[in-house]
Amino acid sequence: MNMEIRTRFAPSPTGYMHIGNLRTALYEYLIAKSQGGKFILRIEDTDQERLVEGATDVIYNTLRMTGLHHDEGPDIGGDYGPYIQSERMGMYMDYAKELVEKGQAYYCFCTKERLESLKESNAEGAAFAKYDRHCLHLSPEEVQAKLDAGVPYVIRQKMPDSGTTTFTDVVYGEITVDNAELDDQILMKADSFPTYNFANVVDDHLMCITHVVRGSEYLSSTPKYNLLYEAFGWEPPVYVHLPAVMRDAHHKLSKRHGDKSFEDLINEGYLVDAIVNYIALLGWSPGDTREIFTLKELEECFDISGLSKSPSIFDIKKLTWMNGEYMKNMDFEKFYALAEPKLTEALDGTGLDLKKIAELLQKRLETLNDIPGLVAFFKELPEYGTELYTHKKMKTNDEIALSSLKAALPVLEGLEDWNTQSIHDALMALVGELGIKNGQLLWPVRTALSGEPTSPGGAMELADILGKEESLRRIRVGIEKLEK
Ligand code: GLU
Repeated sequence: MNMEIRTRFAPSPTGYMHIGNLRTALYEYLIAKSQGGKFILRIEDTDQERLVEGATDVIYNTLRMTGLHHDEGPDIGGDYGPYIQSERMGMYMDYAKELVEKGQAYYCFCTKERLESLKESNAEGAAFAKYDRHCLHLSPEEVQAKLDAGVPYVIRQKMPDSGTTTFTDVVYGEITVDNAELDDQILMKADSFPTYNFANVVDDHLMCITHVVRGSEYLSSTPKYNLLYEAFGWEPPVYVHLPAVMRDAHHKLSKRHGDKSFEDLINEGYLVDAIVNYIALLGWSPGDTREIFTLKELEECFDISGLSKSPSIFDIKKLTWMNGEYMKNMDFEKFYALAEPKLTEALDGTGLDLKKIAELLQKRLETLNDIPGLVAFFKELPEYGTELYTHKKMKTNDEIALSSLKAALPVLEGLEDWNTQSIHDALMALVGELGIKNGQLLWPVRTALSGEPTSPGGAMELADILGKEESLRRIRVGIEKLEK
């Protein structure tokens, strides 16, 4: 029988979407969708100390914006709920007790003080000490007496005394650990809530998860998880551990150290589709040199064998390049819808034709946030120095610029029809008349119109957008500057 692929994204609501978490979600989604499977959202909110107001909305919003639509989850239900871990709290004790009965777990009544003293007596003085199994050998009667007396307890997993545990990870290959190294980890805490290490195994099993994708920081816990599956007689999932996303060769990407989250990138004017595309390639390769993928295309070609175990560096320059590619290749109306709010804000009250400006911008932008800086000169001619009129390739200097602007002024003043074509024809006729190079006229005019060393659009486009009156005014300002 063909088993249905079921993956899950199990974020803790921290209040932002870390790039690494989004990549995990994306790969989980793609593993499921590339094989006609289901993608499940489970919110792991049991760490009450880390809870942040509105944090689950960040998760929903991110999945919605990126198009990683889940098939089951807290907001849409499904056959395997509840999908919020805190609502599942009643489910774990029976499973823990089942393990106690099977001899795979045991009650531990050790006090905090006793456990603390284990740390102190630990030769390395480490913050962590393996539990010394003090309570493992309590007789059933002793255990019952303590339970009856209401002594607080935890339930611990009993690790095998000898031998090794081996599992195969899709990315890291076969991993073997000595069982002697494994701590008898706590499954149920004194407050009778499960630990994350126990809950995730029970949840993944009950939700019939076939593939678990998570960060490589969980690799060392996986043997313990596998021993739990084994103890219950359950089928373990396929494990896909992902290497960390790095800031540079030595540091992991970290929000605390100022690295950007998904929301930060959106606020900085990056497009969702470009971010998703870029993140897909942070640890996965299609096996050829293609780089631009829509989510749909990724769904079709994603294959687990393309995952890599070498850590990937988050390269904002590459993302920025990719973002520019997305903007260039976007349908103009779609681009305009994205650009319009920023244009309106930057050029409020100017009455300029924003669509024409957007057309000039589309091929030149790297991110939407570049818009205000690139279009500000349309609203107000900036202060600029005459050195802008000197351009080696255009073969211009102050002198040439002055004579060109002086020649252009009456020609443009006399122009009846004011549009890109008529301005073009008039200026090109003047170039011919003066016997100079195109750039020797067009560069000075462009400079006078923008007051910027570079601008979206050349002389004719800028003149057309600014209108006759304002263009002439700016050319006069240029002449004045150059005459000084
Ligand atoms: N809630 C865990 C986290 O956000 C999930 C880890 C896992 O995928 O099992 O790190």
